[in-house]
Amino acid sequence: MSTILFIGLGNMGSGMAANLVKAGHDVYGCDLSDDLRAAHVAKGGNSVDGALKDFDASAVDAVITMLPAGKHVAKIYMEDMAQNLKKGSLLIDCSTIAVDEARALGQGAVERGYPAVDAPVSGGVAAAEAGTLTFMVGGAAEHFEMARPFLEVMGKNVFHAGASGNGQVAKVCNNMLLAISMIGTCEAFNLAEKLGLDAQTFYDISSTASGQSWSMTSYCPAPGPVPAAPSNRDYQPGFATAMMLKDLRLAQGVAEGAKASIPLGSHAAQIYTMMEAADKDDLDFSGVMKLLKGTL
Ligand code: NAD
Repeated sequence: MSTILFIGLGNMGSGMAANLVKAGHDVYGCDLSDDLRAAHVAKGGNSVDGALKDFDASAVDAVITMLPAGKHVAKIYMEDMAQNLKKGSLLIDCSTIAVDEARALGQGAVERGYPAVDAPVSGGVAAAEAGTLTFMVGGAAEHFEMARPFLEVMGKNVFHAGASGNGQVAKVCNNMLLAISMIGTCEAFNLAEKLGLDAQTFYDISSTASGQSWSMTSYCPAPGPVPAAPSNRDYQPGFATAMMLKDLRLAQGVAEGAKASIPLGSHAAQIYTMMEAADKDDLDFSGVMKLLKGTL
């Protein structure tokens, strides 16, 4: 069993850290929130109280970060990390951050003597709690193999996507595709209804025809056909529009640098920005349906 320093016990991190505790690891939870640290202790973990820099990390084998954005990860990696973290301790960043930032942080860590991988996740809070996340991992093959046993405790699919930063590449490309397919699915259901075809009938046909997609069959944005989908609870997330927009903006940033044309990805970002401007970015990303219907 290993000693793990887990930084970021929010919506996702709390469930992930709890699964590591359940697997028998000694997990020191670190968060700005006293309440979240207390909740982690109540589930059998330990707490990093006081400044992270002063924490005695001499026994730590792996540091896992699950933080809101790249600037938070950079601050931890470059400034706030426990000072006596031993060389050779593995750094696993599960946050969704920019590709170039992940590459810079990963390579910088390796140069300082810390094996490091970027390992962003697909799957929301429920998957984090159930230990069924998908991990997309970037980094050297030997660092991926070091990370794998920890990731397998928190997820059901663990993929090595290639060199440092490639986990983030997989993540932004996947989510850009998801956004585009969700908006297309909303348009199709809305048009079908306006033309007199009810959602269930259109679903029965299209889900077995060439229009089928995950957005339709697992997350149908029209209420009715998929009972567990957020559309049946007035688009409460799920996966919030704000989160999707964050990922689409990351995709736009990297696309520009790579001179890759992403006309539909950019358009999807604009559509979700309309939801943000209407102060509705707390709705699930399938809530584009409300935007199309004029009921946002
Ligand atoms: P969150 O805001 O709920 O959690 C982040 C936590 O980090 C907060 O509890 C915050 O207090 C803590 N934190 C911030 N700065 C810190 C610091 N310096 N030291 C210690 N703790 C600090 O966010 P989340 O929903 O858990 O998402 C985390 C990451 O996972 C994001 O990068 C997000 O894009 C990604 N993600 C989220 C989902 C989702 O459905 N929520 C799905 C896939 C990926």
